[in-house]
Amino acid sequence: MAGGDADVKHSPTGDTRLVRWVLVLGVAWIAVYASGLLGPLSELTFPLFALGALAASWYGVWRRRPARRLPWLLIGAAMMLFLVGGATRVAFGTLGNLSSHRSLVPDAITIPGYLFIGFGLGGLARARLVSREARVDAMLDATISALAVLALAWIYLVAPALNDSHAPELVRLTLSCYPPLSVFLVATTAELAFSAGVRRIKAYSFLFAAAGFMLAGDVVYMLVDTHLVHIAQTFTDVPYALAYLCFIATILHPSMLQLTEPTQTDERTPTRGRLAIVAAALGIPALMTIVRSDSVTKDRWVLAAIIASLTTLAIWRMFRALRAHTRSEARLAFQATHDTLTGLPNRMYVHGYLDRLRQTDHERTLVAVLFLDIDRFKLVNDSHGHGLGDELLIAVAHRLQAVTRPEDLVARIGGDEFIVVAGELTSNTDALEIAERLRLSFAVPLSARGMELVSSVSIGVATADVRDPAMSAESLIRDADTAMYQAKEAGRDAVAVFDATMRDRAARRLALEHDLRFALEREQLVLHYQPIIGVRDGRVVGFEALLRWKHPSLGEIPPSAFIPVAEDTGLIVPIGLWVMRRAASQLAAWRNELAGIGDVYMAVNLSARQLREARLSSGVHDIIDETGLPPDALQLELTESLLMENPDMASEVLGGLRRIGVKLAIDDFGTGYSSLAYLRRFPVDIVKIDRSFVDGLDRDDTSEESLVAAIVAMATALRIGTTAEGVETERQAVRVGQLGCQTVQGYLYSRPVPAEAVPATVARLVETRRPLLRAVPNPMTA
Ligand code: C2E
Ligand code: CA
Ligand code: CA
Repeated sequence: MAGGDADVKHSPTGDTRLVRWVLVLGVAWIAVYASGLLGPLSELTFPLFALGALAASWYGVWRRRPARRLPWLLIGAAMMLFLVGGATRVAFGTLGNLSSHRSLVPDAITIPGYLFIGFGLGGLARARLVSREARVDAMLDATISALAVLALAWIYLVAPALNDSHAPELVRLTLSCYPPLSVFLVATTAELAFSAGVRRIKAYSFLFAAAGFMLAGDVVYMLVDTHLVHIAQTFTDVPYALAYLCFIATILHPSMLQLTEPTQTDERTPTRGRLAIVAAALGIPALMTIVRSDSVTKDRWVLAAIIASLTTLAIWRMFRALRAHTRSEARLAFQATHDTLTGLPNRMYVHGYLDRLRQTDHERTLVAVLFLDIDRFKLVNDSHGHGLGDELLIAVAHRLQAVTRPEDLVARIGGDEFIVVAGELTSNTDALEIAERLRLSFAVPLSARGMELVSSVSIGVATADVRDPAMSAESLIRDADTAMYQAKEAGRDAVAVFDATMRDRAARRLALEHDLRFALEREQLVLHYQPIIGVRDGRVVGFEALLRWKHPSLGEIPPSAFIPVAEDTGLIVPIGLWVMRRAASQLAAWRNELAGIGDVYMAVNLSARQLREARLSSGVHDIIDETGLPPDALQLELTESLLMENPDMASEVLGGLRRIGVKLAIDDFGTGYSSLAYLRRFPVDIVKIDRSFVDGLDRDDTSEESLVAAIVAMATALRIGTTAEGVETERQAVRVGQLGCQTVQGYLYSRPVPAEAVPATVARLVETRRPLLRAVPNPMTA
């Protein structure tokens, strides 16, 4: 069996071809059989077909492993029972001879077969229809269709059989069972037919044909048995043979698997074809009562009973359809205006709500839209998974509903963005108060999955007079969104009220974003280089690459103005890679060309976004390969806050970079909120002490000085080097040197300069080079 499944799944076309051949050969055999040319061979027909059905069942059910097997087994078993029943009938010679009770034996065998088939087909329908509601609907429709067929069968088949006076009572009764049983078959087939999409399944067509031939066979038999018609036995058997053949095709066809697969769409609205069948079913008995006005009273009673059942079922069915319709309509309306996760209204609802506010007759006509964005929500999602993220959002929704007034609207309009609409305010101060209250409510941690999560929100506020004809829901939401961005930029956990200058700023930012998309390919980005100097001997030990944007109309733009935009848009990933490649190849060139410098390194800045990029380390690898630089000639600088945002991820990525052999530095050290102890967590080589501390050294600020001393001492203890940034004066240089810093960088030596100015700068630095600490011994090494 090993590998059998895979084989089968990979050769559906082969199976389809097989089905075609089986059908061709089968029909040919049946044709010859019917013509009587087979002679004694014709005895073989049914055993042969039965064997075929067995083999096909084995192949389809055992090798293909459909989702459900029982329905197929039941149907297969029924086919066998029919065969045995047929054989006994021939053996007992009871065909067309109903005078003896012996004729009941074959019936005792075949009748359970019908039940088997019915339950098998029902099982298929059941497997396809997932919801209970859909099953009940299908069953009702099937029963209605079946009752109609029963009415027909009664008049033309059952009643004549019952009236056949040749046969004993019991035999007649048994005989009259067949048509209703066939009807039962039709009903279950119909039930299956009423499951969505079944008509597209090839195997189903074969199955339907099999049931049809079965019914046809029963009718023919009935007619022959009751001597209403006289035809040769080979002819009466043809429908059964065809039924077997169709059953074999069903089970051999690869699409049989789909018959026990639940339907994707649980379509509740009945299709037009289905409605037509049910309608026709309702009409048939009525029509017959009219047409057959001569029928006997017993028939009329039966027909009346059938009509009564049909009417009851039809009313029930109609009621269900209507109810389903109203329900689905209400559900659709709700889904369109609500968020599925939190159940809160969505953006569309807010639009309608704001529009309705216009019709207020209240004298306080100010409305405020508060745009809330959860701070660092992405972090929770990335580090704890979406499940927890979702629960956090639900907790936020509850929190917001708890702290707003009942008449305020709380909505979720996307990801971690919520909106509160507060109406009937008198002034902007009211709006601000509400916003502050919302912001402060996040001081109490939220609980999700038994965890206490500390979070904060940034809130943007926009207000408008509802009578103002220019007010639009869209612009109000957009303005509140813009203000929210300001709150984020102000350091998060803040409230910002919209004003017109923000709109300009937002527009400028948008324009910048647009232009930045082309900056790289239009070669508007350039690198400037700032030398890094060794404190002990005043030599140039490295450079830091700093990005500049030569904007065609705005001139040179500093990185602080466009790096955040690049980070938000993800453009920092290609830009950052370009910076690294460009700076590395520049360094490789200088190492060969520039006299007076030794093994200098190149420092390159990295953004958080780049750290999350899986291809970062392979990019670094490639660049080292391309340039032929030793890995430690590259120093990657990451800010402290970046590392702290997601320490686990950061130390993993840093570990990977470390293995390549590049040097790692913590940039702007001291500006974040991490403690010195955190240094130990990350495998770094250098700590860059932020400019703000170096600045303090000029003003005899002892607290700054002891901080720098502490940083250096801690770093030295961990064998981590230190670089002082932003050294502008001689005095600062001397102090940082005394405190134990090994390298310095700042305007005192050189501003960042374009590549072409670097040789001259280096030459000047070599010329004026002097050890800074000639006079003062280093306290750390003394
Ligand atoms: P940073 O990494 O801290 O870079 C040092 C910044 O301090 C540079 O500003 C530099 O011009 C400035 N600086 C150097 N010496 C002095 C001094 O003595 N006095 C003063 N006042 N400033 C000094 P810049 O070039 O404007 O860069 C600002 C920031 O932009 C950088 O801070 C870095 O975080 C970021 N940045 C620059 N280039 C890139 C880049 O390629 N990628 C990424 N992700 N960020 C970059
Ligand atoms: Ca830096
Ligand atoms: Ca820095």
